Amino acid sequence: MALKDYEYETSHCIRCSWCKFMPFQQIKSKRFSYLCPSISYLNFHTYSAAGRMHLALALIQGRMTEYSDSLKQAVFECNMCGACQVTCRTWNYNLNPGEVLQELRGHMVEQGQLIPEHMAAIDGLKREDNVFGEPKADRGKWAEGLDFLKDANTEKADVLFHVGCRTSYDEELWPIARTWAKVLNGAGVDLAIAGQNEACCGGRPYEMGYRGEIEKYAEDIAGRVKACGASKIVTLCGDGYGTFKSIYPTLGLDLPCEVQHTTELLEELINNGKVNLKNKVPMKVTYHDPCHLGRKGEPGQKWEGTYERLHPHMIAPVPEKPIKIGVDGCYDPPRNVLKAIPGIELVEMERSREYSWCCGAGGGAWEAFDDFASWTGGERIEEAKSTGAEALVTACGWCERSFMDSVKENGDKIKIYDVIELVDKAMGGS
Ligand code: SF4
Ligand code: SF4
Repeated sequence: MALKDYEYETSHCIRCSWCKFMPFQQIKSKRFSYLCPSISYLNFHTYSAAGRMHLALALIQGRMTEYSDSLKQAVFECNMCGACQVTCRTWNYNLNPGEVLQELRGHMVEQGQLIPEHMAAIDGLKREDNVFGEPKADRGKWAEGLDFLKDANTEKADVLFHVGCRTSYDEELWPIARTWAKVLNGAGVDLAIAGQNEACCGGRPYEMGYRGEIEKYAEDIAGRVKACGASKIVTLCGDGYGTFKSIYPTLGLDLPCEVQHTTELLEELINNGKVNLKNKVPMKVTYHDPCHLGRKGEPGQKWEGTYERLHPHMIAPVPEKPIKIGVDGCYDPPRNVLKAIPGIELVEMERSREYSWCCGAGGGAWEAFDDFASWTGGERIEEAKSTGAEALVTACGWCERSFMDSVKENGDKIKIYDVIELVDKAMGGS
């Protein structure tokens, strides 16, 4: 599909503004009633999904021909969090603003209208197969000394463990990856890693609009799965999960194996009695749904229809397009794991599950608009604090990094954990 194919979606947006807020039925307070970080921060209609739909329509219809800096800012100062895709469904409009935002970015990049700050990630990807441009040779450093892990490059294993760019190169997050590996191995999972040969899933650059190499990365990961004979790929990265579950299948690039998030596998292991959570962890916590694990982790499906002009003023997708409303993301497994820990009291934030507020790290906002990204993360911390929880727990390295930075910057006392860190405490770890 090309941008011109989205005339149906963009011309049917009625500017109702539902894409900016929680659905009325779900709102519990004015303070946390907004759901689109971009419009909340910039407070001008253009910086909403609706505004971007109309920019796209103006480009499609040739009413706008110049790619100004303000157009680039409007397109890219967005978290690509997918909240608008969910809330646009409030009145069953059957549009796909999330898809339009993605296509608009792809179009801009193809026209050479890149955000310079994104180039570092894209150059890093081309050079070292990761979005930080860090040496490829260092990718497996997090696992040094974990000799029980199989080498997916030379050995057969049931499960390929994909750690992702963020955790692989963020030393402060290495203990999280190491604990996941130890817990899964201790429960009898036959686990392999690709170490320095693991590559980016391609999802983050794709969401920046750079879609040139996603096929290469999907083929690379599929090849590695086949080579080690894994029946399953398990990732602790929200971005990786959303890419494997949603972006690849939408592009017809399905992986030749089951895809799980680490919390899904852990929930199974707890239910089968393979992981014993015996120690009490007396703590009131709240859980943050990573966008790409939740609403953007809803399984994707390739649509092979066309938009047909049924009457002079009526265009419709034929056959009907699959509807993505975010409800089939990975929401319950991390919560069920937390509930299985003795002593944990889990409280929900006002915006949760498919109506979760973004951590700020998505869509290249962090790389290019750091004030906006850190404001978004700080807003989530405020919401977590409003529940009275002493800790904010999540299940994605990007969210953890965003929240850890926000707490440090603002001097907040709330603690940030990955699910596995509390599991480790319950299993007798520190
Ligand atoms: S994108 Fe959807 S929710 Fe937003 S203004 Fe348009 S129709 Fe309404
Ligand atoms: S993807 Fe998120 S930040 Fe971007 S317009 Fe939609 S709701 Fe707003």
